[in-house]
Amino acid sequence: MPTLAKTKTRAEDIVARCKRLASFSEDSGSVRRTFLSPPMHDCHREITKWLTAAGAEVKVDAAGNLRGFYAASQSTPPRLLLGSHLDTVPNGGAYDGVLGVLIALALVESLEGRRLPFAIEVLGFSEEEGVRFGTPFIGSRALVGRLDEELLQRQDVNGISVRTAIENFGLNPAEIPRAILSDDTLAYLEFHIEQGPVLESIGRPLGVVEAIAAQTRMEFVFVGRANHAGTTPMHLRHDAIPAAAEWILAVERTAQSYPDLVATVGRIEAKPGAINVIAGEARVTLDLRHKSDHERAHAIDVLLRLAQEIVERRGVSLRQRTLLNQRAVAMDPFLVDQIEKAVGSAGCQPHRMISGAGHDAMILAEKIPAAMIFLRSPGGISHDPAESVEVEDVAKALECGLHLLDQLASSSEFQKRTCRA
Ligand SMILES: [Zn+2]
Repeated sequence: MPTLAKTKTRAEDIVARCKRLASFSEDSGSVRRTFLSPPMHDCHREITKWLTAAGAEVKVDAAGNLRGFYAASQSTPPRLLLGSHLDTVPNGGAYDGVLGVLIALALVESLEGRRLPFAIEVLGFSEEEGVRFGTPFIGSRALVGRLDEELLQRQDVNGISVRTAIENFGLNPAEIPRAILSDDTLAYLEFHIEQGPVLESIGRPLGVVEAIAAQTRMEFVFVGRANHAGTTPMHLRHDAIPAAAEWILAVERTAQSYPDLVATVGRIEAKPGAINVIAGEARVTLDLRHKSDHERAHAIDVLLRLAQEIVERRGVSLRQRTLLNQRAVAMDPFLVDQIEKAVGSAGCQPHRMISGAGHDAMILAEKIPAAMIFLRSPGGISHDPAESVEVEDVAKALECGLHLLDQLASSSEFQKRTCRA
């Protein structure tokens, strides 16, 4: 195990590198690096330099994922994947995704040429946020064989398809199948900033992710009757807006009283939308998440019943449609236990938690055991230039990662595992 001073220096380097990579942006003055945009070349060039110096062999697969292979002590060993994503949202921060890739790199550097019984493949996914094509996880989908023709044909706002974007970046879409996980893959581990306030609120630097939350996105349309705001008495109205408003408050009340549920109405749109007209239609969105699929479905039922009761009482009607239903994804229980132990060995009190946001680990978990470690997000802020991380927390993450690698290197149970693909 490296000295604490050395780990602290490496943590400072990681933060400095995150800031350096943040300068590779499509926009001047803020970070925006979408799927295979020109600044991604610069990002790849920098990380390749660091990975090569650490003894890894680097290539970019046909989906634009950067892959650094650090060989094992044996000639044909299994491999452990460590990484996160390199794309960002518009006006993003310097740490979402990138930090996980650079921690993976620093773990390889910390080995200082020492070889483990398994190889380490450092992954910098090309796309996680879904900004350019409206579809997230293009990078990790390629690894599980889900970068299909339909996705390749999707177009960005300039009419450029995923396929053309890949070609324009100098890659060959015909080679996408070669990006698929090899049979010798043991597991995927991802360090990521929490992007929320929980760890800060309990004063702990690291979180152990047990599952990625189930998520439902819906649209509710409350339909009333538009009419004159001056001539229609209150008792003769069928006003869509108060009906929607009553339901929105019911959503908030329900989520407040329902353990582990988060529910958000993030958009309201009224028609015709004039100051002197009673609204004939109020369209609102619902984003609802829970760690359990069963509880999520139950909460949706409750909110539907409440909406029905409100529209009947108010003489309006309701239409609703589901835009997304994403099942909860459990992290691998063996790895979760191992991470908890490693967090303790790094001198931190472990905290098990659910990720409310989706991550590449969720996609990889379809095929191989996957797990995540969260780092405290100061102020709970993410997807914003104010996003940050504490150097001390990065040092703790590195310490935890090194303990974890040692634990896995000495675990015959872990190394016996093979790809479920
Ligand atoms: Zn992210």
